[in-house]
Amino acid sequence: MAQPQTTTITGHLVLPDGEERVRLAPGVLTIRGERIESVREGPIPDSGCDFGGPGCLISPGFIDAHLHLPQFDSIGVEGLELLEWLDRVIFPAEARWADAGYAGQMAGRVARQLLSFGTTGIGAYATVHAAAAQAAIDAVAEAGLAGHVGQVLMDRGAPPELVRPAKQLIEEASNLKGRGRIVPAVTPRFAISCSDDLLRGAGELAAKTGQLIQTHLAETTAEIREVGRLCAGLRYTEVYARAGLLTPRSILGHGVHLDEQDRQVLARAGAVIAHCPTANRFLRAGMMDLAAHGRAGVAVAVGSDVAGGPDRSMVRVARAMMETARQLGHSGPSASEAWWRITRGNARCLGVADQTGSLEPGRWADVVLVRPDLEWRAGPDPIGTVVWGWDDRWVERVWVAGRAVPA
Ligand SMILES: [Zn+2]
Repeated sequence: MAQPQTTTITGHLVLPDGEERVRLAPGVLTIRGERIESVREGPIPDSGCDFGGPGCLISPGFIDAHLHLPQFDSIGVEGLELLEWLDRVIFPAEARWADAGYAGQMAGRVARQLLSFGTTGIGAYATVHAAAAQAAIDAVAEAGLAGHVGQVLMDRGAPPELVRPAKQLIEEASNLKGRGRIVPAVTPRFAISCSDDLLRGAGELAAKTGQLIQTHLAETTAEIREVGRLCAGLRYTEVYARAGLLTPRSILGHGVHLDEQDRQVLARAGAVIAHCPTANRFLRAGMMDLAAHGRAGVAVAVGSDVAGGPDRSMVRVARAMMETARQLGHSGPSASEAWWRITRGNARCLGVADQTGSLEPGRWADVVLVRPDLEWRAGPDPIGTVVWGWDDRWVERVWVAGRAVPA
């Protein structure tokens, strides 16, 4: 049998620094087959390595904790509030996934785009169509990505072609098969489009299978009012709590409009908020207070939420997270913390940190080689220079489970 191929990359390694930051260290990374074989700190060799050099940054692949695969061709439709945007832009786009062949083809195309931006792990939504969700799992896995893809569960509040009876949806979702590094996730869209029966069924399915739960929570005030109207005045967090949907394996998109009581509920449950700052800005939903979540002990992941968010690059999303926090008057998170969040932090939130999200021997070789055209090492905060000055053209090469993807 042929020996697995070995690749050596040199440059400035992005390594964990304490709990929630990264640091840079010169050195050499070796990939053997699908895994990282070694990570050696030390001088950058002049020759003998396959890729990189003294001007390069070697990062773990980026992880996008919240995005919608069928929405990538709907980026940038401006001027609508969330619920209107769903009706007029998103539901028609998702209806096209009734054709599973089209869905698989599109999901494959989206996966290749994500890889070109350095994203190697995802928490993604498909559509309500079971065959399309399976086709998306297969296509995204085939491209090499790691993470979760879920069939969207909706039994009300959407056009007739996008709703199904609760029982049918739960049965379909329970029959989805993982493939490669992608596993299915239980994905009720949000309380507006799910009856109590469907939410409860989703909670039971997640408890039975141990799958991750993905849904949306408190993105806009109009959405919260509608949930109050549909759910007998219950608090939004209470609606999910009753259905068994607040768990340490729950990723709740947005969480923009929450108060201290909600945060306590989330913190006690160990549920994760997926902060989507570019989407909140684009749909003018409001600004999520990252610091308040941190103080309350709520875990926070970061997502592009394409197409609510127009940016596919997780570094741009990280930068938007920093900008939002600054607008709210906070000095953090730093660029180092932001980089940690889009790599190891997100891996932890998605439950894959023992496999990816950091440059450590034995992990999957999900690696991004970045060659900035700025003198990024000259200033006092090199990671800050890279994040604030980010240009996607700097992504020189990406490895996904050891397989090189031309960037
Ligand atoms: Zn979303």
